[in-house]
Formats: sequence, structure tokens, C-alpha cells
Amino acid sequence: MTMLCDRCLHQAVIYQRYSGVHLCREHFVRDVERRIKKDTRKMVEGGDRIAVALSGGKDSTLLLYVLSEIFEKRRDIEILAITIDEGIRGYREHTIRVAKNMTKNLGIEHIITPFRDRYDTTLDELVRTSDVGPCTLCGVLRRGALNWTAKEASADKIATGHNLDDEAQTVLMNYLRGDVKRLFRQKRRDDFIPRIKPLKGIPEKEVALYGFIKGLDVDLHECPYATQALRSEMRELINDYEVKHPGTKYALVRGFEEISNIITYPEVQLSRCKICGEPTSNDVCMACLLSANGSRENNTHKSKLRPTSQC
Ligand code: SF4
Ligand code: ZN
Repeated sequence: MTMLCDRCLHQAVIYQRYSGVHLCREHFVRDVERRIKKDTRKMVEGGDRIAVALSGGKDSTLLLYVLSEIFEKRRDIEILAITIDEGIRGYREHTIRVAKNMTKNLGIEHIITPFRDRYDTTLDELVRTSDVGPCTLCGVLRRGALNWTAKEASADKIATGHNLDDEAQTVLMNYLRGDVKRLFRQKRRDDFIPRIKPLKGIPEKEVALYGFIKGLDVDLHECPYATQALRSEMRELINDYEVKHPGTKYALVRGFEEISNIITYPEVQLSRCKICGEPTSNDVCMACLLSANGSRENNTHKSKLRPTSQC
């Protein structure tokens, strides 16, 4: 049986179980844009120069597209894109191609920072010699390179493409590990450029559908190191639960937001990394420690590392 849009009676393309609404293409697109606009308004101020972390994957591509639409007429807000090239042969060159086309078509400034420029090595090279997992290495070094590039580009904020599913998985994973510090680190950015996540209210499935409807170019290559077992387990668990109890993903994320509005986690005293000068709670920052720069330094705090939440 054909389902009809609850707003206009055209054929529906989606049923949002968490809100009980059927939507056609046009109303679905409007609904997604309205929600992103509403969330983004709380995160952005006039005069902001916003650096979008653009990998070329579906989330960051959609993010750049929507932000450029939302702020098209705002002369007081600037958008630029930053792509970090970790040096993953057979993968990153494809997503960079998508990212370059996207920024060219939208007329947006695009900065690409290779790991080689920042750390004098590539992820492929590091993986061969390090005892730390690829995604952990990648996450720490990418975060450092992104922050550094955004600072060099005088950005006021970094926007990342984390969607509702990413956020719900991270919250649950940190709860299950009892990792309160990491849970709160999501809010507390210390001395780093503030991060915003305009897609955090949009489920992954809707990000994909929006990209499909808009005909956004998405690269389907998979990173050869992608093996995040625990995150896949969380994804399955939450998706199962969402089917039985629609709204679970929103509940997880909003529940944590409410807690973090009430409780303030103690600030960690930061100093400057003695190698690169970036903020750190140790003598040497994690990025220097994991790249060749810090190979001779004490590495006892490597054990606290966890893989990144999105790439
Ligand atoms: Fe980096 Fe993502 Fe590849 Fe892991 S899966 S190595 S985080 S790009
Ligand atoms: Zn450092």
C-alpha cells in the first residue's frame, strides 16, 4: 500500500517512527533543513568564521552543503572547508576528489592538510611501526591536525558531521565503559577551537536519504583500517532498540545533554606541549607522542587512548 505524506498527500518517502509522521520528498527535505537550521542557530554567532571538517563522506558533504545554503545570505558568517589527508592509500584520494568537487561547485575556500606536512609521516607509515591501533592513531592525529589548520585559518568554530546515531553510540559506549571523563570531554573542549555538530539531531538514515534526494556526490570506498568492533556492536544494539522503542536515540543524546547542563566536570589544568606548543595535560601532547616526533618520550599514557568516533 502506498503511504501518503501527512502534510500534502503526495507519496511518502519516509516514515519517521519517532515522530509518527510520513513525509514526501519535498516535506522531508524541508523538515531536515528546518531542524538543522534550528540547532545551528544556537551554535553560531554573527562574525563567525566556521571551518567545516570535510572528509568527503556522506555526513560532512551534507553538512557543508546545508551550511552553505543556510548562511548563503549572511554576509557576517564565513564558511570554509578543511580536509585532513591522513595518507591512506587506496581510500583517502577518492574522498578528497569528492571534497574538492564539492567545494569548487559551492565556491567555498578549501584547505587540505596532509599528515606529512604536520607530522612528517603518513598513517600508512605509522601503522607499520606502531603498536597502537590505526583508528586510534588516526583519531588523535587528525584531531590535532584539524585544530592546528583551523587555528592557522583563523576559524572561530569547527563544524563536524556527527549525526544522531554517532552521538547516541558515543554516549552509550562511554556509559558502558564508565568513562565519565570522556563523556564530558564531548562538551569541554579545553583550549581547542570550539566544536559544533549541526547534524546531531538528524538520524543517519535521514542524512543518507537527504544526500540521495539532493544528488550529492558521495564516495563509497571504505577505509582499509575500518574495524571498529565496539562501535558496530553499539550501532546494532541501539538500532534494535530503536525499532522496538522509537525515539531511543534522541532520548540517549538528550538525557546526556541534560546531565551535562547540571553537572560540571572539573577542568583539567592544561600546559603547552614541549614539542609542538599545543594544549595538553601532559608534557608532550598525544599527537606528538604518537607521531615520530615523540617516539623517545615517555609513553605510559598511551593506554588511555580510544579510537575516534567518526572519520
Ligand atoms: Fe581513520 Fe576512519 Fe580509517 Fe579508522 S576507519 S583509520 S578513523 S579513516
Ligand atoms: Zn605536541
